[in-house]
Amino acid sequence: MATAYSKPLPRPLSPEVTRPFWEAAKRHELVMPRCTRCDYLFFYPRSECPRCLSTHLEWMQVSGRGRLHTYTVVYQPANAAFRDDTPYIYAVVQLDEGPRMVSNVVQCEIDTVRVDMPLEAIFDDVTLEWTLVKFKPALG
Ligand SMILES: [Zn+2]
Repeated sequence: MATAYSKPLPRPLSPEVTRPFWEAAKRHELVMPRCTRCDYLFFYPRSECPRCLSTHLEWMQVSGRGRLHTYTVVYQPANAAFRDDTPYIYAVVQLDEGPRMVSNVVQCEIDTVRVDMPLEAIFDDVTLEWTLVKFKPALG
């Protein structure tokens, strides 16, 4: 999108650690770090495996499919830049491959959102530099 985006953009604390995630998102792919020592797939990205502390990691593409683990409907955002989006769904998504990630459920009426509903990732190109991973109800 070439139009101005008025909301805060991601500011990764460790850009070198999270860069592959953001680059994949720009390609509309969802990737997660996987430990090559103990096979653990995890999110958010870290420089060591949270299970065995190995630094031998690789990036694995995941399906983007999962289920809604938990959520809240936001009516009063902490940041006023999101006021025009209210009400919106702030969610924890349980991915089919195991990790959970915090995101938004979009393209979903507020009164139809349910825990355990099937979801699939979508990629919101909010600027030329940033693509955000969000989720929508999965069809079928
Ligand atoms: Zn490990």
